[in-house]
Amino acid sequence: MDRRTLLAATPVLAAAGTAAAQPAAPALVGRPMPKLEQPEPLPPDRRVGFAVVGLGKFALNQILPAMGECRKARLAAVVSGDPAKGARIAAQHGAPRHYTYENFDEVARDLAVQVVYVILPNVFHRPFTERALRAGKHVLCEKPLATTAADARAMIAAARSADRWLMTAYRAQYEGFNREAIRRARSGELGPLRLITSDHGRPVKPEDPADEWRIRQALSGGGSLHDVGVYAVNAMRYLSGEEPAEAFATIASDPADPRFREVEDRVAWQFRMPSGLLTQGSTSYSYRETKRLTVFGEKATLRMDPATDYDLRRMWLAPEGETETEILLPLRNQFAAMMDHMAESVLENRAPRTPGEEGLRDLLAIEAIHESARTGRWVRVPPV
Ligand code: NDP
Repeated sequence: MDRRTLLAATPVLAAAGTAAAQPAAPALVGRPMPKLEQPEPLPPDRRVGFAVVGLGKFALNQILPAMGECRKARLAAVVSGDPAKGARIAAQHGAPRHYTYENFDEVARDLAVQVVYVILPNVFHRPFTERALRAGKHVLCEKPLATTAADARAMIAAARSADRWLMTAYRAQYEGFNREAIRRARSGELGPLRLITSDHGRPVKPEDPADEWRIRQALSGGGSLHDVGVYAVNAMRYLSGEEPAEAFATIASDPADPRFREVEDRVAWQFRMPSGLLTQGSTSYSYRETKRLTVFGEKATLRMDPATDYDLRRMWLAPEGETETEILLPLRNQFAAMMDHMAESVLENRAPRTPGEEGLRDLLAIEAIHESARTGRWVRVPPV
């Protein structure tokens, strides 16, 4: 019997011999959009263009890398006093233009730039913000917004008269753990709040170029309180939703330590909030790096340590009568979230969550802290 006759006479073998009986080969097909875990990014040409001013430690290590995770912001230019560095960084990060401090005003004609992000030593925050506003740009400005409350008021007035948004770059207020802490503290979940403590400090190292200007009053405008204590001042306000009514403080600096010839080292302060809530803070340029806070409520205590780190946040909750448990949340890029928020303000023409007034309120509290340390008395914190 030949092969064809054998197949015809044997049904199983016949079926196996036809192509139709083969299991279908899987086909490559397109599928509908999956459910997205994050908002969809805007196409690059519809994103808001940022010019980053000052290519120092923070700009290069945190901000420019975070641009890659933005959905609504994009890098449109960099501005540096060192043109070779400006050209190199612009090329590495795909920025079409780079400016110097001398030719920066030409940015007025650069339609790709809508926001100027000021990341310069503190004393330059006001003049550069005003320059950017004169060029018709919105401004995102690093903390502290200015070196004095008077300068911060002038920046807010300049933004208003230029009809542009001014935002204080308070990244912690765009960060998931801190947002969750705010929600729990303000929702009543912890019970009425009784006390908030926060300690923020680190050893200042003048041999690091990024710390050189921090110990020079003419460039920094102040010591640990302006630089890192401001995180604690801001946290006390955003966790409670209250504005300090009065401040009391002590400042101490070792006169033999050359780092503290011009700026303060340690500050310990208290605020009385209008509801009766007390807060207690410390900052230092000489203690081990610390970035922590605790919210004591009648029903529970919430603790974060570190609370405001670049890469890590941890949070614990201890309800009355129970042991403390850790609250786990995804770690998202707070710098990208902050820049996207500024981009949204521009796209939707609405005030940012941390406008200039938010930076001004902290400077008013900082000035009350300094005055209390000078006079040894409780000092009223003026309203905005
Ligand atoms: P750096 O010293 O590392 O960078 C400052 C940059 O400003 C310099 O690299 C330089 O950029 C430019 N610059 C212009 N003039 C001067 C001058 N006279 N002295 C020194 N620098 C000058 O500082 P940081 O990046 O640490 O801090 C910059 C700002 O960012 C500060 O306001 C700081 O408070 C804030 N910051 C905020 C943080 C946050 O988490 N939100 C963290 C760290 C800092 P170029 O060479 O390109 O001209």
